[in-house]
This record gives sequence, structure tokens and C-alpha cells, in this order.
Amino acid sequence: MGNEEKRRALEAALLKTDELLDSFSDVLRQDFSGKPHAVRDFSETVKKLVPEEKPEVTVIGKPATEPSDVLFEEISKAPDDERLHMSFDSLLSDAKKCTRCGLCSTRTNVVFGTGCKDRPTVMVIGEGPGENEDLQGLPFVGKAGQFLDKWLAAISLSRDRNVYITNTVKCRPPQNRDPYPDEKQACFAFLKQQISIIHPQTILCVGKPASTLMTGQPDASMGSLRGRFFFYDGIPMICTYHPAAVLRDPTLKRPVWDDLKKLARYLGLPAGGS
Ligand code: SF4
Repeated sequence: MGNEEKRRALEAALLKTDELLDSFSDVLRQDFSGKPHAVRDFSETVKKLVPEEKPEVTVIGKPATEPSDVLFEEISKAPDDERLHMSFDSLLSDAKKCTRCGLCSTRTNVVFGTGCKDRPTVMVIGEGPGENEDLQGLPFVGKAGQFLDKWLAAISLSRDRNVYITNTVKCRPPQNRDPYPDEKQACFAFLKQQISIIHPQTILCVGKPASTLMTGQPDASMGSLRGRFFFYDGIPMICTYHPAAVLRDPTLKRPVWDDLKKLARYLGLPAGGS
């Protein structure tokens, strides 16, 4: 029996018991007028006794990869509190000049991120910019991006309102290859600061590079990471397949939809499409 059914059954039982106690009280008081009794509201009591169902949360730990002290010098030298309050704009201008890994030599634009920067409901972290993203300087603008927008809309989210979208690396890997571990590690300094400044309510990792980096499990398969909740720095995080992978293999649609519904349920959002 689900919690919703349990709540309904408990509320019905409490109402019936209350009615019987009122009738019993009438008998003791010799009151046979048959006047109706006030119906009490047990809904709050029932909610306390049978709480709302939340998905199971697994805490695995933080990513093992940390940026080297040599990287991202200006930020790493600053005191902790100053680093935390470093403005988004100065972080962005630092990224635009960045030459900390080899991807700087082939990029057209640094693709930093887009969407709501003020405590978004969800921060989506993908792999890296593709050709269109590199040309436009925006993440997820090609077919995969349009598909991602549909996923978000299906759980009442939108990059224009309550979602911030970024990638593990901010410069395009040539021929759309997966970013190398040293490139992800170099760029993690930016991602870490973005999360700290933007402070999302939850994180959605799409695809293996983002999921393995953020969970600190470099050798894990996507199948073993998807659909499970983790915590990154106290922020609930869930992983699923990348939209580009689902475009290539439509059988992944069902597991992605299950993962999105799990996220929606956690956030208390309606999930309306598939
Ligand atoms: S991918 Fe990241 S670390 Fe590498 S050059 Fe671009 S911004 Fe810098």
C-alpha cells in the first residue's frame, strides 16, 4: 500500500473513531437529541503520522578530483570567504581568458553557462560544448539541447526561469570527443566556483563524463549511476543519460523519464509528459 492510500485509510479510521466516541459520549450524557456533531479535521495529524514519500538518497561522497593549487591561481590564493563571494562576472571574465588546458587552442568561444543564476531549482551539468555551442558560445543549443529543453519542460522547468545549464569543460573538445581527465580536472575549478556562487537547489548530471566527475567514481558505468540521488557539497544530485545518447538510442527514453520523475517528485514539481 502506498503512503497516499495509507493516509486516506488512516484519516477515514480516525473520522469513524471520532464519530463513535461522540455517539458514546451522547449515551453517557443521556443526550438523545440526535443533533449532528462537528466533523474534526485530521489531515494535519495524518500528514505527521504518514509523511510524504521522498526518493531514497544515497550519500557516496564528493568527487575525488580537486583542481590543483597551481590552477586557477587568483581564486585559490584568495581567502575562503572572499573566494565564496567572488562575483559571477569576474569568474566569467577569468574563464574567457583561460588557457589552463589544451582545449583553449581550438575553441571559438568559451561556453560558460546559461540560465537562472540566482539559486535555480536545478543546475544541469553536461559534458562539453559541441560545434554549435562553440560557435554560439551557449551550452545545449543543438538537437540535444532542444531535446533537453523538452525534458525540462516535462517536469515544469525551463532554462529561462529556474534552471542553469553548464558543462564539465567550458571549451569544445575537438571532434566532440569526451574531455580527457586532465581537462576535466583543470576546468573543475570553474565548475566548483559556479556551483558555490549560483547555489542550485539540486543538480542534474547528464551523461557519463559529468556523472563520474561529480560523484567521484571515474570507473562507474552510467547504468550504475543513473536514477540514484547523491550529495555534492550538501546539494542533492541525480544522474541520467545525456540527451545526445538518447537521440542515438531511443530505448534510453524510459530510464531517463523515470529519473526525471524522481527528480520532480523530490522537488515537489508536477511531471506531465514523457
Ligand atoms: S576547458 Fe576550462 S580549463 Fe580548459 S581552457 Fe577552457 S576554460 Fe580553461
